[in-house]
Amino acid sequence: MTPALTLVRGDITRRSADAIVNAANSSLLGGGGVDGAIHRRGGPAILEDCRRLRASGYGKGLPTGQAVATTAGDLDARWVIHTVGPVFSAAEDRSALLASCYRESLRVADELGARTVAFPAISTGVYRWPMEDAARIAVGTVRNTPTAVDEVTFVLFDDRAHEAFARQLG
Ligand code: ADP
Repeated sequence: MTPALTLVRGDITRRSADAIVNAANSSLLGGGGVDGAIHRRGGPAILEDCRRLRASGYGKGLPTGQAVATTAGDLDARWVIHTVGPVFSAAEDRSALLASCYRESLRVADELGARTVAFPAISTGVYRWPMEDAARIAVGTVRNTPTAVDEVTFVLFDDRAHEAFARQLG
């Protein structure tokens, strides 16, 4: 099965879903952008879980394109799925890594039994991925990934991101 895809404009930390995906950095210790917002609103339980992950197998951090789950703390969700997007490069095609973030997040969601998952536009902030291309990869990958997740919501922070994703959904 492939999930139903929906788009909303807004702050992903205000969403209700079984799993909320975080565009994390590889340290798993928090950062700016959506990562900072998730840790701020989710509270210290998320960071505690991240530290536990670092102590048990992710000592060097989470590699780009992979995904791992923690508690969602005070967020209206059961889990946060942390995935590390690639930094955009004009010299090197890293789109397979960006696609992997969506695919691996859905794989982790399936392992957890999550039925509803909210994604931000991974890599389109500090990591500078061009929005149109990021939207194409995000929507294309989710459409082509078999999963038991029923509904994927892309939560876009501004009009520009929302419009780019809307064009891909057609
Ligand atoms: P990355 O390092 O993967 O580029 P960023 O957090 O810098 O991650 O940005 C990813 C996207 O998330 C950007 O499009 C940014 O506008 C958006 N964003 C930032 N804060 C939030 C939020 N609270 N909810 C949803 N999207 C957000």
